[in-house]
Parts: sequence; structure tokens; C-alpha cells
Amino acid sequence: MEVNIKFYKGENIPLELHKTRIVQKLNLVPIERRLKALEEGGFNTFRLTTHDVFLDMLTDSGTNAMSDRQQAAMMHADDAYAGSQSFMRMAKAVEDVLKKKYLLPVHQGRAAENILANAYIKKKGDLIPMNYHFTTALAHITQYGGRIVELLYDEAYNIASSHPFKGNLNVEKLEEVILETGVENIPFIRMEASTNLIGGQPFSVANMRAVRKVADKYGIRVVLDASLLGENAYLVIQREPEFASATMGEVIAAMTGLADIVYFSARKLSSSRGGGICTNDLKIYRELEALIPLFEGFLTYGGMSVREIEAIAVGLYETLDESMICQSPQFISYLVNSLVAQGVPMVTPAGVLGAHVDAMKMCGHIPQTLYPAGALAAAFYLVSGVRGMERGTMSNQRDEDGRETYADMELLRLAVPRRVFTLSQIKYVIDRMAWLNENRHMIGGLRFTYEPQVLRFFMGGLEPVSDWPQKLLAKFRADFGDSL
Ligand SMILES: *Cc1c(COP(=O)(O)O)cnc(C)c1O
Repeated sequence: MEVNIKFYKGENIPLELHKTRIVQKLNLVPIERRLKALEEGGFNTFRLTTHDVFLDMLTDSGTNAMSDRQQAAMMHADDAYAGSQSFMRMAKAVEDVLKKKYLLPVHQGRAAENILANAYIKKKGDLIPMNYHFTTALAHITQYGGRIVELLYDEAYNIASSHPFKGNLNVEKLEEVILETGVENIPFIRMEASTNLIGGQPFSVANMRAVRKVADKYGIRVVLDASLLGENAYLVIQREPEFASATMGEVIAAMTGLADIVYFSARKLSSSRGGGICTNDLKIYRELEALIPLFEGFLTYGGMSVREIEAIAVGLYETLDESMICQSPQFISYLVNSLVAQGVPMVTPAGVLGAHVDAMKMCGHIPQTLYPAGALAAAFYLVSGVRGMERGTMSNQRDEDGRETYADMELLRLAVPRRVFTLSQIKYVIDRMAWLNENRHMIGGLRFTYEPQVLRFFMGGLEPVSDWPQKLLAKFRADFGDSL
């Protein structure tokens, strides 16, 4: 309610509740240069450099705008190998916000995934039930010989849906899986807040309570990936009637209180690095403790600089401020709804993290073997200078026999980092995407020329299967004249 601002006349647009005090110049290079940049970068948006990127919508990881308070806190960081006061402040913030007493610091979110997989996946075939995987979580679990099973409800796979909680874990199936697999083969259950790969979709507190109940019945631990917890909590306030008048702090506490272990990437809290694993269970803390100096650094810095640690502490408290957290979800909602109005197929309802274009539908003429979402990401960069990220089959890994595993969804994610873009920039994105949608039949597929075995989407190289990029460039010039 705190952030409900209505306009007297005209459309209700999201209103920025901050002012800009430091700016960074952007480059919008001509489309001819953008085509060259794609060729140099193997048609993979991860391999573009920011000189060639206008709006960087690759990710919200480490790219949210920092607040003046975070910057100020970084100035009084306490450099010490052991026992730094900066770490004490971060631990206090974790206790105040996430309500967990014991904190193990790590250098970023995936490092927490490595530590948890190392500690708890004890034998080949151990199974981790989860609402949905995240790329790095899956990679770490499989590196240690584990397997995953994804237990979303059917509505989560319905891209154009109005279901408010598509990230809910199917508790009936969870119980079936536990009975089939045997408790001894299930090290933990993983819940991911604002389920990233299905379009930043939240779960409800009611659902997490139901998961906890099943976990308690069988004595299995619940691990919460809280990287995007603030955004999930914001959507709970918007969408779950029980919490309509709750504060961010109350919702966050309700969710973390249902997990035995909470881990997070601080890159999503406006820090440039960092993360943590936290718990109230001293036994769990002891099980994980030795792995931190082994992989990360001493127990009071975990691979982070003290400045980053200070920024995280403040970032955690700022997560409690609804007027701060709301900016990105409101911009995303504006972007999604405007694109839907223009006929662009989008994941609905609007989630967090970014807007997600349904490439399977928009590029229905491109078979999954030729990576429609990757092709759409390349095509959209070409016509706009906006860099999004493929979240589809390219982001999947091959199975043990080297066979391609086709993604459930082929998405182009346009991330909207917190308080970075202005509304006119968002309107530019809408305009160029609407144009590309009208010309979508000109987009063709991609094939790998260089395919790394692990996390191939990061550094993989591809080439277009025909001269479709040149033709798309010519059409752009015909329609836009000498516009950038
Ligand atoms: C970003 C992210 C991670 C990984 O965090 P990094 O800091 O990038 O390693 C893990 N889980 C989720 C849900 C994320 O969004």
C-alpha cells in the first residue's frame, strides 16, 4: 500500500521514488557495428562487451544501482583478515532481516551452492527435489553426482497464465517422490524464491508452509535459495490476501522461518560480489564451517572485500523498504503489459528480475534444435543495442549420453536491474521489440561452432544458419532510415 500512487489523468505509469545523483554515459552504436559485434562474439550476448551495448538487460546480478547509504557504508569498512567489524555488521543484518543467527560468508551465490552440494550430496544418484532448477545450482548438484527433480504445478508451464504463484512446489508430487526415492536418498528439498528460469515467478507463503509440513513428516531439511527473496516477498504482499497489510520484514521472516538453511547471492542486493549461507542450527553450521576456508576464505570474509560486505549489510536492510524494492517489479510490469498490448507473447503475470519474451511462440518457425531464444536474443540486440539473455535450451546442459535436453520454455529475458533504467529507456525497448515482433519471420536459427561442456551458454560460440542477420539489418535500414 505504501507505494500505491495513482495518476489523476492518463495512464498509471510507474513513478521513480529516487533521484539520480551519479550517471554513466551509454553507447548506442549503429546497427552495422552491432552486427560486427555479434559476429565477433559468436552471436552470444554474453560475449558482447559493454562498449557495444546500449541498455544492458543481461542480468540483475551485480548490476543494481547502489544507494547513497551503501556507498557511504563502504567508506567505513574495517579491513581485517579475521574478526572484521564489517563482517559483524553483515552478520547482524542477516540476523535482523533473515532471522538467522549463524552466517557463513561466500564470494557469490553459486559458491553457496557448491558448499551445500559438497556437504550434503554423499552418494551418486542422491536426489534434490525443488520447485525449479537454477543453472548454477543444477551444475553443482550434478558435479557431485546428484540428480534433481522439478516439481512445479502444471500452471507454471502455461506461459500466458494469470496464476499469481507459478513458483509453488507441488506438495502432492513431493510426497510421492519421497516415498518412491526413500528419505535416505534425499539430502534436502530446495525452494527457490522468485523462480528465476520460469520468468521470475514467486511462490506463496502458504505453499512454503505446506512444503515444510511434508519435510517435517519425513525429517528432510529445507534449503531456501533467497537470492531474490525481497522480490518474492513484495509479490506476496501484492498477491497473497493473508499478507496484504504485512510489512516486507514480516513476509521475509515468515519465509526464512520455514527453512533450515537459507543461502543467497549478494550480487542481487546491489553488491558487486558476495553471498552467504545462514541457519539457526548450530549442527548445520558445524557441518559447513570447514568448507568455507577451503573454498572461499576465512570465516569473516569468505572471499569478499570488506567494502562489499558493508554494502551487503546495508542492502539487506534496504530490502525491507517496500518503496525501494517496488521499483523494478513495477517497471517490469509496465514493460510486460505494454508488450502484451502490442501483441508480443510474454510470460504472464509479470514477475520479477525482468520481462520474459516467449521465443517458442514468437519464433515458432525456428525448431528448438536451432535455439530460438538464443536467436531472438541476438536479433533483438541487432535491432536495438539492448542486450538480453537466452533462457532456453542453450542454457540447458546435455544429458550423460551427450544428448540435447530441450528446455520446457524458450525465453528471452530482459532483466530490469533495480533503479538503473528510466521510463523512456523502457519505452525504447517496447518500441524496438514491437518492430521486431512484426518482422519476426525474418529471424533464423543458430548453431554451435564452439560448445563448452559445462555452462555452455556463458562462453559458447554460434553462427546463424543463413544470412538472416544481414537481411534483418537491411529491413531495419529501410524502416528506420539513418536512425541508430
Ligand atoms: C543469481 C542467482 C544465483 C547465483 O548467484 P551468483 O552470485 O550469480 O553466483 C543462484 N540462485 C538464484 C535464484 C539466482 O538468481
